[in-house]
Amino acid sequence: MAICGKAFLVRNDRAHGGAGSGKGERFRRAAVLGCGLAGITAAAALCESCGEVVLIEWDRLPPEPAARPGLPQANQLHNLLGRAQVEIERLLPGFCAALREAGCGEARVADQTHVLESGERAPERDLGLRILCAWRPVIDHVALRLLLADRRVRVREGLRAVGLVASAGGEVSGVVVKGEDGEAETVNAEIVVDATGTGSRAMQWLADVGLQQLPVDTARPDQWYVSCLCDRPASRVGDPAFWLFFPSPSCSRGGLVSPVAPSQWYVSLTGHGHDEPPRTFAAMQEFAATLEDKGIAALLGGAVARGAPNLFRRTIATWRRYDLLSKPLVGFLPIGDAIGSLNPLFGQGISVSAWQAAGLADLLRGMPSGPAREQISWLTTAYLRHAAMACGRAWALGEVVGRAVEGLTGGRSRVFTELIQDFPELHSHYVRVWHLLEPAETLAATGNRFRARRRRR
Ligand SMILES: Cc1cc2nc3c(=O)[nH]c(=O)nc-3n(C[C@H](O)[C@H](O)[C@H](O)COP(=O)(O)OP(=O)(O)OC[C@H]3O[C@@H](n4cnc5c(N)ncnc54)[C@H](O)[C@@H]3O)c2cc1C
Repeated sequence: MAICGKAFLVRNDRAHGGAGSGKGERFRRAAVLGCGLAGITAAAALCESCGEVVLIEWDRLPPEPAARPGLPQANQLHNLLGRAQVEIERLLPGFCAALREAGCGEARVADQTHVLESGERAPERDLGLRILCAWRPVIDHVALRLLLADRRVRVREGLRAVGLVASAGGEVSGVVVKGEDGEAETVNAEIVVDATGTGSRAMQWLADVGLQQLPVDTARPDQWYVSCLCDRPASRVGDPAFWLFFPSPSCSRGGLVSPVAPSQWYVSLTGHGHDEPPRTFAAMQEFAATLEDKGIAALLGGAVARGAPNLFRRTIATWRRYDLLSKPLVGFLPIGDAIGSLNPLFGQGISVSAWQAAGLADLLRGMPSGPAREQISWLTTAYLRHAAMACGRAWALGEVVGRAVEGLTGGRSRVFTELIQDFPELHSHYVRVWHLLEPAETLAATGNRFRARRRRR
């Protein structure tokens, strides 16, 4: 499956001109910085409204799915929650089918998912949702192939975005990029999307063009993740089940096992910063035996590692509050990890960025008529608000849910497990909150309704 055919990769910006006069195209060109999933979905959102969408990527994109330096998390386990599936499918129709065809794990939630929360095994019943997982380069590769079927999109590889170009009136008009030879060039664009991930330099770029400093919220997950691909024992080949054992107040260790292929699992173990991460597969097996539930340890007992474990640390999570700027740079739209880096434990990053991108597409479709400048100004404000809403739903979700459950049960996790066991509707709402499909804020009220019903029984 090769997708980045050289036909799409044009080195010189001047080689392409004169776009933007087609039907439905409001803007001549948009530049999307970064070709991770946030960049790919943002480009899909922009296609309808722009004559041309140029994706600028520092890495050379491999012709087949492969890890690359710009995605240091590529060899970590990536699950796709319900929100990610819905929104990517909306932006890139056929995505889920193409991912299945390329090879991904899939299970029904929750009769094929074994979840441990607060030391309790969650009820297992079909709630009408699916969880998917694949090696991250495969997910990107499938999405990019679908995106590049649109002739308005092109990728320029080997270019690093190094700054913005803005007018005195506070509108973005392009991006400065540097090639591998160090030569600088300006790519003109009415919309610039920053999808360069957690390492985004946009705050500096904004300061360089005289814009106000950005407020930044921080949290301290202080977690590490050790992932390893492994061959399953023969008795487990073809089993679609996922195991998701989350840390709890009494055990700061967790583990996830995802069926990335019929004969393989992606195993990820997590621990707190002060805890020593396992460096070998044998050490991972020993570590799994210390979890509150021995289910994952039993699986790993018969598994054989494919390569060495990969370690990733996230000490601090940041949320860059573009939504709080009184005067944002008009036409500059950050997305994904460039806005917020979340706790990877909950597997929300792709969901949030795809949700932001799908919201951008909706806003572009519903844009009020008027001069282009006013339209972009409206779009910028409305998009930054939407992007913050999506990030905010995931940001600290663990604490929000924890407080709701604590309020319902006085901290007795067994009581909550019994409640969701008794009421499939509440169970479904709870799980949909974790899949970012329903807001956590309604959990307490819904839970109280069912608790009252239980008392009346
Ligand atoms: C350990 C770990 C596990 C995770 N597990 C999950 C999971 O299970 N499910 C889930 O939904 N999410 C998960 N995530 C989060 C997920 O990886 C990201 O949130 C998601 O991929 C969106 O990332 P992004 O596209 O914003 O940034 P990235 O994926 O980081 O992409 C940024 C891109 O920008 C390019 N780039 C950077 N700087 C420049 C520049 N100056 N010029 C040009 N190009 C540049 C990079 O090369 C790269 O291609 C996990 C994250 C980690 C760290």
